[in-house]
Amino acid sequence: MPELPEVATIQKDLEKKVAGKKIVGLKIKKSRVIKEPSVAKFKKEIIGKKIEKIIRKGKLLIFKLQPGCFLIIHLRITGWLRYGKEEPKARVLFKISDGNFLNYMDSRLLGHLRLRKEYKDLNFLQRLGPEIFQLTSNQFKQMLKRRKANVKSLIMNQNFIAGVGNIYAQEALFLAKIDPRRSATSLTVKEKDKLYEKLKAVLAEAIKYRGSSVDSYRNLEGQAGGMEKRLKVYGKKNQPCPICKKPLKKTTIAGRGTCFCPNCQK
Ligand SMILES: [Zn+2]
Repeated sequence: MPELPEVATIQKDLEKKVAGKKIVGLKIKKSRVIKEPSVAKFKKEIIGKKIEKIIRKGKLLIFKLQPGCFLIIHLRITGWLRYGKEEPKARVLFKISDGNFLNYMDSRLLGHLRLRKEYKDLNFLQRLGPEIFQLTSNQFKQMLKRRKANVKSLIMNQNFIAGVGNIYAQEALFLAKIDPRRSATSLTVKEKDKLYEKLKAVLAEAIKYRGSSVDSYRNLEGQAGGMEKRLKVYGKKNQPCPICKKPLKKTTIAGRGTCFCPNCQK
C-alpha cells in the first residue's frame, strides 16, 4: 500500500509530466473504481479539462482541473498510476493532450476515483490528521496525551497523523527503539521526542529515495522505488537485527504483521 513517500513521489512526477496538459479522452474498463458521479457523467465532465496542478493530502492525489473541478484519486491497496503508452491492464485510461496515456492500474480494484466541484468537504479529508512535517515536537507530544491505543496502531491511524502506514510505522519504531506492542500512554517524554524525530527522518529519507516497492507500488514510469533496500526491519522476520545482530521477531498488531527487535526495542 502506498504511504506518504510513495504518493509524494507520484505527485512530483505527475507535476512534471501532466500539469498544464489537457485530458482529451477517457476509457473506463472497470467502472467499479469510479465512485462519483455516475460513469456517464464522469466521462462527459472530464474530457476537455486542463490539469492545472496536482495536490497531495495524506495518501490522496487531487488533480485540480480547469474549468473548476477536482479529480480525486485514492490509490488504497493496489492502485498506482503509469504514464506513457496505453497499458493493457489499466482499469481507467486518461488520454493526455501530448499523446500519452495516464493509466490507472489497480489489480484488486480497491481504489477510488471521484470527480467533484470541491474536495475539502470529503468526509475522509475532514477527518484526516495533520502530517508529521506540519507538527512541532511539542504539538506531537500534546496529541499523544491520554491516547491509550497501541503506539503502532496510533501512528498508522490516518485521523491521528496522515500518511504513515505499515512499513514506515515499523521502521520509525525500530529507529526510536520503542517496542511496537506498547501503549502510547506508556511512552516517556524522551521516547515521544525520539518517535517524532524518527517518523520525520524515515519519511524524509523515503521521499528522497522515491518510496519503497514492497508490493504493487511503482512510480509513473513503472520503476520500483529505491527505499526498499534501505528498510531496516520491515519484512525481515528472522533476519539479523542491523544493530545487535540477534534475529528479528514478527508479531501481529491490529491485524498487521509487524517486525521488530525485542533486544533493541524496549
Ligand atoms: Zn537489535
